[in-house]
Amino acid sequence: MNTILAYIQNATTIAIFTHQSPDGDAMGSSLGIYHYLKSLGKQAQVIVPNAFPDFLAWMPGASDVLVYDVQTSLSNAFIEQADLVICTDFNDPKRIGPLGDKMLMLTCPKLMIDHHLHPTNFADAMISVPEASSTCELVHNLLSTANCQLSSDIATVLYTGLMTDTGNFSYNSNRPQIYGMIAQLIAAGADKDAIYNAVFNQYSVDRVKLVGYCLYQKMRVFPEHHTALIYLSRKELYRFNFQKGDAEGIVNMPLQSKDIHYSVFMREDKATPDEMAKNGGIKTKIKLSFRSQGNRPVNVFAQEIFAGGGHANAAGGEFYGPLPEAVQRFLDNYTKYLKTD
Ligand code: 5GP
Ligand code: MN
Repeated sequence: MNTILAYIQNATTIAIFTHQSPDGDAMGSSLGIYHYLKSLGKQAQVIVPNAFPDFLAWMPGASDVLVYDVQTSLSNAFIEQADLVICTDFNDPKRIGPLGDKMLMLTCPKLMIDHHLHPTNFADAMISVPEASSTCELVHNLLSTANCQLSSDIATVLYTGLMTDTGNFSYNSNRPQIYGMIAQLIAAGADKDAIYNAVFNQYSVDRVKLVGYCLYQKMRVFPEHHTALIYLSRKELYRFNFQKGDAEGIVNMPLQSKDIHYSVFMREDKATPDEMAKNGGIKTKIKLSFRSQGNRPVNVFAQEIFAGGGHANAAGGEFYGPLPEAVQRFLDNYTKYLKTD
């Protein structure tokens, strides 16, 4: 902690990076650091590899964020001036796409604050705590060590990440310290009910219908392995006027059944030019989400078969090629990775 704070103290211009397809914890942890640095009078800029979903756009500071794939020159201009880089909620430069290649070319120090397993060794100093509920929890600890007076903006963004990374405190959230922290965040101005509403209750009618379609028509169940699989083609997404973020949370829903212990969700997407270049020109990218309950890790499956990773009960991966091939890859492998009890 103190090494990290010393780097921060010595820096004046600080770029903050978080992972591709930013989620609540990515946005919360990067913006939490951002507001803190601003309060110290530093020049700070959050740069995300690609757009964050609309349901996080209300977060204090979100409108100041630069999106690297569309604001590349503006972002590069800031990055080249930076005398420190802080990476939050990821531990491998591959998780930030082309921004990772840019980062590795920089000579300034790099810090990492993260809660995923197996950190790669790119940072000069890091806080890496896989047991933590969220990166926001680690940022909160860091700010407490720094004796930072939590503003309502900081409390709001940190609470958001804590809430989203624990599925509104339904997993990965048994440590009592978390609730001490929540009390502090609420006392500092986080409106927990309003944050819940802003994140989880702002979907379009099309999205709510998409959920119905997925569960009623698209869920395949593999009873022996207590597993549900849902996959959606681009054509199906188009039918429901799909917007970024609309697939969020669908993967968790099959777990509402007592008979389902594993849930896998696949969505057909377009590969970016950079992803195409790295994958032999293949235009189709399948994004996968994995969820499980209890002592049934899914991150190894995600990592070994779908080039991904993540936490034991919540992981993700990707596949370049047609959707039926990704489904087949799942069918060929799930019995090896998923338990029957
Ligand atoms: P989600 O299913 O919500 O997209 O991702 C769940 C978790 O899996 C994320 O918090 C992240 O830790 C991890 N994850 C998702 N996609 C990837 C990926 O492509 N690579 C790796 N290494 N982790 C991922
Ligand atoms: Mn996280």
